[in-house]
Amino acid sequence: MSTLVSRLREGLPDGAVLVDDDVTASYAHDMASFCPAGAPAAVVLPRTTEEVRHVLRVAHDLRVPVVPQGARTGLSGAANATDGCVVLSLVRMDRILEIDPVNRIAVVEPGVVNADLGKAVAAHGLCYPPDPSSWEQCTIGGNIGTGSGGLCCVKYGVTAEYVLGLEVVLADGRLLRTGRRTAKGVAGYDLTRLFVGSEGSLGVVVGATLALRPVPPPRLVLAAEFDSTAAAGEAVCRIMADGHTPSMLELMDRTTLRAVNAMTRMGLPETTGALLLAAFDTPDPAADLARVGVLCEEAGASSVVPAEDAAESEMLLAARRTALPALEAVKGVTMIDDVCVGRSELGAFIAGVERIAAEYELTIGVVAHAGDGNTHPTVCFDARDPEESARARASFDAIMALGLELGGTITGEHGVGVLKKEWLARELGPVAMELHRGIKAAFDPLNILNPGKVF
Ligand SMILES: Cc1cc2nc3c(=O)[nH]c(=O)nc-3n(C[C@H](O)[C@H](O)[C@H](O)COP(=O)(O)OP(=O)(O)OC[C@H]3O[C@@H](n4cnc5c(N)ncnc54)[C@H](O)[C@@H]3O)c2cc1C
Repeated sequence: MSTLVSRLREGLPDGAVLVDDDVTASYAHDMASFCPAGAPAAVVLPRTTEEVRHVLRVAHDLRVPVVPQGARTGLSGAANATDGCVVLSLVRMDRILEIDPVNRIAVVEPGVVNADLGKAVAAHGLCYPPDPSSWEQCTIGGNIGTGSGGLCCVKYGVTAEYVLGLEVVLADGRLLRTGRRTAKGVAGYDLTRLFVGSEGSLGVVVGATLALRPVPPPRLVLAAEFDSTAAAGEAVCRIMADGHTPSMLELMDRTTLRAVNAMTRMGLPETTGALLLAAFDTPDPAADLARVGVLCEEAGASSVVPAEDAAESEMLLAARRTALPALEAVKGVTMIDDVCVGRSELGAFIAGVERIAAEYELTIGVVAHAGDGNTHPTVCFDARDPEESARARASFDAIMALGLELGGTITGEHGVGVLKKEWLARELGPVAMELHRGIKAAFDPLNILNPGKVF
């Protein structure tokens, strides 16, 4: 047995350290394509903060890399193993420690699954708004690691806006408490926010205090069909400029609608250029949908159909949530991009993606959190064909270049990971990169926390 494994086992219960090669290999990857992964030396599944601290102390002593992991639904390779690392999977730290309806907070361990938190707080009349489409699998630790978004962010905001405080085990095993439980608080630098989106590179989150909101009224959804994605983009601009804040405003292009139909037989319109789904959870959603329906028609919608009730609305949302797996089924593998542009640039951006698809002779479906300008152009390809794979990678890069040209960002919610690290400096520039390196060195001078990710 290696020194690493015997030292790890000294402070951990039976079954917490896995070393069988087949088992450790199954923890090597998240869900991103084109991201290299190494072979872990061990996978550790702690149940307590003290166990996490033990792992970090051993890794620090022996200079061994540690890769924190949640459910590995990430789409940037940020949770991928590096050779000889300890994979630190937080999935067994899955307790909801407190739900406080007066202060509207929950205190949770990092392995709590997003959907499980939603169900638990609903029993108190509360909700935790950030809702990635992977909400039934992904963990709160992973959501904090990536700074994830979701479908209802256009109205309710992203993960960063709901993390009030954290407990973090640092690279040398020290325990850091950041933030607050109070509604307000400005004491010191905002270290909490620094950890959100840090992709496991600054510390291991072992506890989080999260803000909750009252459960909103049931939402109603409107489906609007457009001949072109440009017209759908125009409708998004008109809806926002008219002062509306839908609780969700999602777009699927023709390629995506066909893929969802092929997978689910939902009978979505296949000849239309784009489908826009707008939801309102206001006191009078039917009135808001009526006004938004008019705006869609003014932007050129060929059909506007409000759902009759909550059940029909949820069916339309289910179609949207199936979009990424459905696109994956088209050719077996996808590269899911995550470029976010200003809403006013949405039409130009999607038109550019259509040009890129034609130029590289590839199927690229576009789904978008349109109300945020956050798009997921999804390149479908056959990974067994090296030439097609090379074109897929090149088109993916062309899409990011287009996003930057239009004043956008290379990642709205999935993070940089391995997939986009060459692109980070292009977006941030040399001064910001130098500060990034300084912050990393302050938290992790030996570079053992998720090395080789982000930059
Ligand atoms: C079908 C599908 C749909 C998706 N839809 C969305 C969407 O709508 N919006 C969105 O934002 N994302 C989406 N994603 C991406 C993904 O689900 C999110 O990024 C999610 O937040 C990852 O959570 P996870 O538990 O799987 O984390 P992982 O993938 O395991 O890890 C993600 C990152 O967080 C770090 N990390 C994990 N736990 C900790 C911890 N305790 N402490 C410190 N760092 C940690 C990891 O090192 C890694 O850098 C989708 C993915 C899929 C497969």
